[in-house]
Amino acid sequence: MDAEEVHSRLGSGQKSKIKSKGIKGGVKGGKPDHKKIDLVTVYRTLTSFEEAGILKQVDLRTDSARYELASHHHHHIVCTSCGLIEGFDACNVEALSKKAIGESSRFSIISGHSLELFGLCNGCLRR
Ligand SMILES: [Zn+2]
Ligand SMILES: [Zn+2]
Ligand SMILES: [Zn+2]
Repeated sequence: MDAEEVHSRLGSGQKSKIKSKGIKGGVKGGKPDHKKIDLVTVYRTLTSFEEAGILKQVDLRTDSARYELASHHHHHIVCTSCGLIEGFDACNVEALSKKAIGESSRFSIISGHSLELFGLCNGCLRR
């Protein structure tokens, strides 16, 4: 499974599913704060998945939180103009971590890392 597969499975698909569930509950319930309660439930579920190590939150500087499968290690390139996200598998942060540990007097263990790259996609570049 490569990064692109993770995105097609979890990216927009899963996210929109969770979103529409929350909105549907709001319409059905008819109460003004029903949608809010539903979103809290969704958030709690996501958080518990995160705590269990199944999902991890990815900070892509967008206004909505993004969760992805924690089991497949990969990184992202994000277009700062249109928000296009592309995953990539290449990672040399392990080597960097060893260097950081070597230079640090306060840390001796690196347990994880996150790395997201930001730029302009070809489509936005041509615009
Ligand atoms: Zn773009
Ligand atoms: Zn991803
Ligand atoms: Zn990495």
